[in-house]
Amino acid sequence: MNPITDLLSSFDKLITEHGSATILKERIVQLREEFERLKEKHDRLEIENQRLKCEVDDLRKALEQKTISHEYTEHRGVLFRRLANGQIQDEVYCPSCKVPMTSLMGHTPLRCSKCHFTANFTGRDIERVVKEVAT
Ligand SMILES: [Zn+2]
Repeated sequence: MNPITDLLSSFDKLITEHGSATILKERIVQLREEFERLKEKHDRLEIENQRLKCEVDDLRKALEQKTISHEYTEHRGVLFRRLANGQIQDEVYCPSCKVPMTSLMGHTPLRCSKCHFTANFTGRDIERVVKEVAT
């Protein structure tokens, strides 16, 4: 190789490398921009997803409340409520006032604090009676 050919080859190499470096730099800038754009979109969607999850939760609770307040099942002279998932709530309601009935330490018969209606079973029996309703 003579020095001139060598020099030309060096220039050629330099141009090629310089050219690729520029293209590479442009590509990196493009990719960085694309990455930022996607990251922004991801963050936005994550926030939106979180918001929707909360909304679904709230609506599910509201629906459950609605289902509870409208659906009573009568059994042994008192009322029970069926939850949205089909289960019977372990709470006893007065058939006239529709308020929860209470039992002293579970030992006394369940009683309505409003009209004093008394059930024929105690607080300790609720679990068993709920099972009767469920079947
Ligand atoms: Zn009552």
